[in-house]
Amino acid sequence: MKLNEIKLTNPYLNLPDECHDRVKPAPLNEAFIIHANESVAELLDIDKEELKSEAFVSFVNGALQPEGSDTFAMCYAGHQFGFFVERLGDGRAINIGTLNGLHMQLKGAGQTKYSRSGDGRAVLRSSIREYLMSEAMHGLGIETTRALALLGSKHSVFRQEWEKGAIVLRVSPSWVRFGTFEYFAHKKKYKELEALADYAIVESYPHLVDEENKYFYFFAEVVGKTARLMAEWQAVGFNHGVMNTDNMSIAGLTIDYGPYAFLDEYDFNYICNHTDQYGRYSFGSQPNVGEWNLRALMVALAPLVKTEELEKIMGKYSKFYMQHYLLLMSKKFGLDTHSDEDLNLIKHLLGVLQGLSVDYTLFFRTLSRYDGDRKALLKLGLYHTPMNDWLDDYDIRLEKNTSTTQQRHAKMLKTNPKYVLKNYILQEAIDAAEEGDYGLVDDLFTIAHDPYAEHEKFERWAGTTPEEFKNRKLSCSS
Ligand code: AMP
Ligand code: MG
Repeated sequence: MKLNEIKLTNPYLNLPDECHDRVKPAPLNEAFIIHANESVAELLDIDKEELKSEAFVSFVNGALQPEGSDTFAMCYAGHQFGFFVERLGDGRAINIGTLNGLHMQLKGAGQTKYSRSGDGRAVLRSSIREYLMSEAMHGLGIETTRALALLGSKHSVFRQEWEKGAIVLRVSPSWVRFGTFEYFAHKKKYKELEALADYAIVESYPHLVDEENKYFYFFAEVVGKTARLMAEWQAVGFNHGVMNTDNMSIAGLTIDYGPYAFLDEYDFNYICNHTDQYGRYSFGSQPNVGEWNLRALMVALAPLVKTEELEKIMGKYSKFYMQHYLLLMSKKFGLDTHSDEDLNLIKHLLGVLQGLSVDYTLFFRTLSRYDGDRKALLKLGLYHTPMNDWLDDYDIRLEKNTSTTQQRHAKMLKTNPKYVLKNYILQEAIDAAEEGDYGLVDDLFTIAHDPYAEHEKFERWAGTTPEEFKNRKLSCSS
C-alpha cells in the first residue's frame, strides 16, 4: 500500500467523550527519518519503498495525515510509586489512527490536555532507547509494543540542557493501561468503565465477547498475561524501572520504555531507575509489583465483578508466575522436561551468579555450549568452587535429558541470546547519534532484531560490560 492509499480507523473514539481528547500533532522542525522498521511496515501493509519517501517523513512528523485520521490523546490515571494520581494520560503521545489492527501513536508530537507541565516532546536519546528496545524485546520473543520509525530533527527541546527533539511512531494492538480503568473507577464513572472493559475485551480478548461472566474472565486473562510477562522479564534479565500502573498494559505487553536496563552482572537487587530511591521497581521486585498492580486493577474492576471472584483469580497469580518462570528457566538450562524440583537448581545457580558477579547473558550463552568441559564457565567468575558445585548438580540433572548434547546446544542457542541491548551499548549509539552519526542505530537494530544469531561483526557487544558501565542507574528524564 502507498501512503496515499492508507485509510485509518479510530475505534477508540467510539468510547464516551471522557476517554479521550482530540488534539493535533505539532510537527518538529527540519525532521528526517533516522530509521524505519521494514517488518512493522509489512504488518501495516505499507510498501517498503514508501519508507524512503518525503511523504513518509511528513507522516511520521504528524504533518501528513492519511484519510480517516482523527488524532487524539487517551486519558488515564495510575499509581505512581504507590501513590494514586487521578489524572495522567498521553502527555506526549498522539494517536493517529488504526491500520490492520495496530494503533499508531506519535510519541513526542507535542502537548495534549494531559501534558501537565511537560512540553509534549521526546528527546533523541530516549527515542533511540524506545525504538531499539521495543525491537529487541520483539526479537527476544517477549510481548511488546513496537515502532515503525524513528524521526530526528533540529528542533530544540530543553531538559537539563538543550537537546534535539525526536518522534517515535509506536504501534500496538492495545494502548489500554491498568490506569485507564483506574481513571473511571476513581471518578465513579461506571458506564465509561464498562464501555472501556467491553472495548478492551474486543481489542485484546475477543474470544470472551459472548461469555456470560466476561469481565471475570477478562481479569483472569490479564492476571495470566501479566504473570507471564513478569516471568519473561525475569528470565531474560530485564528491569523495566517504572512499573507504575499507568505503564502496565492490559494486553500484557511491555510498554513505555524509560530508564529500563538489561542486567549486566546478575544482581537480584539491581535498580535501574535513578529516581527509585528505595528500589520499589528493582529487578527482583518485579513479580511482586506485577501482583500489586493487578490488585490496583482489581479494585478498579470491582464495580463490574464480585470481589470474591476477583480475589479467587488474584490468588492464582503466584502459581501462574512460578509455572511460567520454571518453564522459561528450564529452557534456558536446556532441560527436556521440568518439575518443581528444578527450582532448587535455578535458585542455586542464581545464588552463584550473584555471589561471583557473573554476567547473566554471557553465562547462559556460554552454558549453551557446555559439553562437560568447564573451563569457559569457570572463567566467568573469580572463584571456582561455587560454580563447580553447581555444575556437579547440573551434570546430574542433565542425565535425565533424553536429547543429545548437540540437540541441547542447538535449542539453548536459540533460547539464550548472544546479544541484549545493555545500557552501555545503547549509550554508544546515542553518543554517536548526538553527533549526527546514526550508523550504530542501524547496527543495534540488526542485533536487536535477531539476538540469537552470531553477528560476528558485533562480537564486542557480546562480552562482559566494561567495568565503568556496570549496573549503572538511569534517570527518568526523557
Ligand atoms: P512515563 O513515566 O514516561 O510513563 O510518564 C508519566 C506521565 O508523564 C505520562 O502521562 C506521560 O505522558 C507524561 N509525560 C512524560 N514526559 C512528558 C513530557 N515531556 N511532556 C508531557 N507529558 C509527559
Ligand atoms: Mg508512561
